[in-house]
Amino acid sequence: MNDVAVLIVGAGPTGLTLACDLARRGVACRIVERSGSPAVGSRGRGLQPRTQEVFDDLGIIERVRAAGGDYPDIRAHRGEDVVWEGRMIEHREPTPDVPHPNPWMLPQWRTTQLLRDRLAEFGGSHVEFGTELTGFEQDADGVLATLVHDGVPELVRVGYLVGADGGHSAVRRTLGVGFEGETFDTHRMLVADVTVDGLSRSHWHVWPETESRTFRVGLCPLPGTDSFQFTAPVHGEATPELTLAALQKTLDAATGRTDITLLDSSWITLFRANIRMVDRYRVGRVFLAGDAAHVHSPAGGQGLNTGVQDAYNLGWKLAAVLAGAPAELLDSYEAERLPVAAAVLGISSTLHHKAVNREPDAHRRDDPALQQLGLTYRGGPLAREERAEPGSVLAGDRAPDAPCLAADGSPLRLFDLFRGPHFTLLAFGSRHADAVAEVAARHPKLVRGHVIAPSGDVVDAEGHAGRAYCVAPGTSAVLLIRPDGYIGWAGDTATDGRLDAYLDGLVSSVG
Ligand SMILES: Cc1cc2nc3c(=O)[nH]c(=O)nc-3n(C[C@H](O)[C@H](O)[C@H](O)COP(=O)(O)OP(=O)(O)OC[C@H]3O[C@@H](n4cnc5c(N)ncnc54)[C@H](O)[C@@H]3O)c2cc1C
Repeated sequence: MNDVAVLIVGAGPTGLTLACDLARRGVACRIVERSGSPAVGSRGRGLQPRTQEVFDDLGIIERVRAAGGDYPDIRAHRGEDVVWEGRMIEHREPTPDVPHPNPWMLPQWRTTQLLRDRLAEFGGSHVEFGTELTGFEQDADGVLATLVHDGVPELVRVGYLVGADGGHSAVRRTLGVGFEGETFDTHRMLVADVTVDGLSRSHWHVWPETESRTFRVGLCPLPGTDSFQFTAPVHGEATPELTLAALQKTLDAATGRTDITLLDSSWITLFRANIRMVDRYRVGRVFLAGDAAHVHSPAGGQGLNTGVQDAYNLGWKLAAVLAGAPAELLDSYEAERLPVAAAVLGISSTLHHKAVNREPDAHRRDDPALQQLGLTYRGGPLAREERAEPGSVLAGDRAPDAPCLAADGSPLRLFDLFRGPHFTLLAFGSRHADAVAEVAARHPKLVRGHVIAPSGDVVDAEGHAGRAYCVAPGTSAVLLIRPDGYIGWAGDTATDGRLDAYLDGLVSSVG
């Protein structure tokens, strides 16, 4: 008999996202964190559009928006002169299908704080700080884990263990899973959170090298705080001092000015670029997620974001299997996430090398892949496209948003319908109304059905939903949206047994 269903090791953004997702599904889990207190440090401060959609689904997007801010323009200085101003990425206006089109800046310590608060609201168990996983063994029915708190060991038996324990993952090492890639000992960076006197908070200030396209020091204001993130590449082999005085010296040398004073620092670290990933995401009942499975160059801001997506992919599957769905559902975690991690790693490596090689566009972040909105599980084990003539949005793709109306004429977004732990059955066309109601009634805990039609419960008054899903006016389609916001199944009808077969295979006995 297992004591708890899931043990999450590590309370960074990945572990906390998973803990929230499991808690709102009523799954009993524990989340342990080796550090004695929450991590400080702005670290992953860029929330990509897809991550914002996940946070919308978890019900914290308003808080994320209130606590964070847009990326400021970059202002390059030479001494006291401003020599260039520009952006990493052009600002985009929201569109009906993409409500959060721009990266949003929020220091990582704040993101994790918001996730811990949400975990408490979901009634999940609190983070057990100062508790380290020191070992585990697994058998066919569970995992026996050793936790140490205040020097006192505890044996706990769990159904599944998730290693969200960061780049140096003990879980990964205990599993013996490979972590192939590169470590760039010579590409090091000083990163710190500092308060500054003598510098406006309107811009992300950089002091470029005189003759090259790289920078010597950057100071980026962190929204919702009075701090800046300080960054400075470290040249040579010597280990720099991690003190405020040493940062000040670096700043003075880079700027040639004496009017900018670093007042205080809450976090200073020496970052070394690592680009590595696992060859397996799962061994038996133990899973790897986030930095434990892939580490990135900070260029492109993908690390935290990819970890959040891992957690979001795994959460509903673990909950479904614990509720009785076939255990094979868990195989799809590695099948879906490993190729994504490999692709993301490729993009951040390209950006890293551009920066190192001082290419002219090294600061640009326009590649749409960085937003993680185009990420697709097409062709994967859970994507079933059954339509005779589908448009360009297919099973496996992200389910887009669209502003519509409820039957009473009040505004309603498709994301409002998706929000929560359920599958959403969306039928375009009133002829599917009875079938949709029957499927939803057969799976009351799992599926919520909606009919998009003038007489349906969702009215596509301006055609945004039809356009977003490539369903032409007057034609029909039935789409099953997974709990993590991807189209799982798409067909021309819900009555020929194929949707039932898909749902039965996926989650049969969950109800
Ligand atoms: C300077 C810097 C800048 C970055 N910039 C960006 C960015 O702009 N965008 C972006 O997306 N990402 C960025 N990242 C990366 C981002 O910070 C990481 O990808 C993210 O923290 C990964 O989250 P995680 O939860 O997977 O792992 P972590 O945040 O590393 O959390 C793992 C946790 O597990 C705990 N732990 C470890 N071992 C054990 C154990 N045995 N028992 C219990 N607990 C354990 C650790 O204490 C830690 O708290 C940056 C990172 C750095 C350092």
